[in-house]
Amino acid sequence: MTEKVITRFAPSPTGFLHIGNARTALFNWALAKSLGGDMLLRIEDTDRERSTDEAIAAIISGMEWLGLDYAGEPVYQSKNIKRHTEVANLLLAEGKAYKCYATPQELTQMREKAKAESRPMVYDRRWRDRPEGDAPANTPFVVRIKAPTSGEIVVHDKVQGDVRFRAENLDDFVILRSDGTPTYLLAVVVDDHDMGVTHIMRGDDHLVNSARQITIFNAMGWDIPVMAHTPLIHGPDGAKLSKRHGALGVEDYRRMGYLPETIRNYFARLGWAHGDDEIFSSEQFIEWFSFSGLNKGASRIDFAKLENMNGHYIKNCDDARLFDLMVSLADELDDQIASVGLKSHADTVIAALPALKTRAKTIVELVNSAQFIYQARPLQFEDKAKAAVEGDSLQILRDVQPVLASVNDWTHDGIDQALRTFAEQKDLKFGKVAQPIRAAVTAKNASPGCFDVLLLLGREESLSRLSETTAV
Ligand code: GLU
Repeated sequence: MTEKVITRFAPSPTGFLHIGNARTALFNWALAKSLGGDMLLRIEDTDRERSTDEAIAAIISGMEWLGLDYAGEPVYQSKNIKRHTEVANLLLAEGKAYKCYATPQELTQMREKAKAESRPMVYDRRWRDRPEGDAPANTPFVVRIKAPTSGEIVVHDKVQGDVRFRAENLDDFVILRSDGTPTYLLAVVVDDHDMGVTHIMRGDDHLVNSARQITIFNAMGWDIPVMAHTPLIHGPDGAKLSKRHGALGVEDYRRMGYLPETIRNYFARLGWAHGDDEIFSSEQFIEWFSFSGLNKGASRIDFAKLENMNGHYIKNCDDARLFDLMVSLADELDDQIASVGLKSHADTVIAALPALKTRAKTIVELVNSAQFIYQARPLQFEDKAKAAVEGDSLQILRDVQPVLASVNDWTHDGIDQALRTFAEQKDLKFGKVAQPIRAAVTAKNASPGCFDVLLLLGREESLSRLSETTAV
């Protein structure tokens, strides 16, 4: 029987859920699902000072919003500290690790020497082979692993191929600090082993860590999981994605009005490809996922493309769901007017969505575009809409008002007939009549067409708005 595939997403809860980390989660999720396995979530909260409950909540809610499910409950790394320490002591007892009493001054000297020789600081292993009897009494020590001193450590990476590190550059790194706490390098290996992780996929900024962690796996005689390191996401200018490029947190994308399916599709595609496919469902992503589709180089985020893709998913989204998303976003952004307005005009807004959603690139835009439905009178005109109801147009509106008022059959055909007759009588192009009406009842520069808005607003509200606009 082949072993069940277990992947894991292991974020450190020191801020928000970074979009790059979310993509790592997405890849791990697809990998596990594509191989009939499970993804686990491990919160790496051993840095108690930097880890916050808000950050943990942001990770969990971000995963939920993205629809990235994991098996079981999240594992909190801080709860496993005893076990990490136990493994360090085991390595110590087996002579695979040792106590190092080098003082801070000695380490500083080593660092300065390395700097003067323009090479990276490598601990010189001065305590590696010293007898126990040399240990100074009552002196703090760290525990270091006995790493290979010659040859190479090879990371068999599923994306980059074999990545080789010269043993002398990796040194005997610390696995237990002088206060007895385990280091990140040790904790990750122990947890990965204990959680039965078969595949580790993470950003390529972890490649050197992987080489070091392999040393621990080997020292313990544990199987080394399959490893894959994905290139990072860069900004449009090719520099590592940072605040100055725009949104970094998954939550920010939600608040900007992106749909989770857009984020899944766009960020999966950014860094992975299946032929020329740009738009694909999560089911297809899972079905098609393989290491060979992963890019070897960093990919640049293209915000315009992301927005267009969101427009595509909004257009294809069910209206009732869109409406719920609009309300929850208005609530989240604390836009009370929009929240109350949407809820009190739910039927009209939902009826308007087929027309509104063809224009919107984000849920925020959609909320704004529905504002004409519930806005209170007197209407607040946008500048361009104001220009559209002034001058000649104002006269046309005044003339057409009694014509519309006489329409009892408030349907597309009923309104159409009355307006066409009016336009013919006045020798006006139809648009010269329809455009000012549309602007007069919406106060917006952009909105669905004249018939759509008159029908959505209904006879009474349309006529009231028109008479108010023409009364100025
Ligand atoms: N906690 C690490 C991070 O957030 C990831 C560790 C890992 O994936 O091994 O960068």
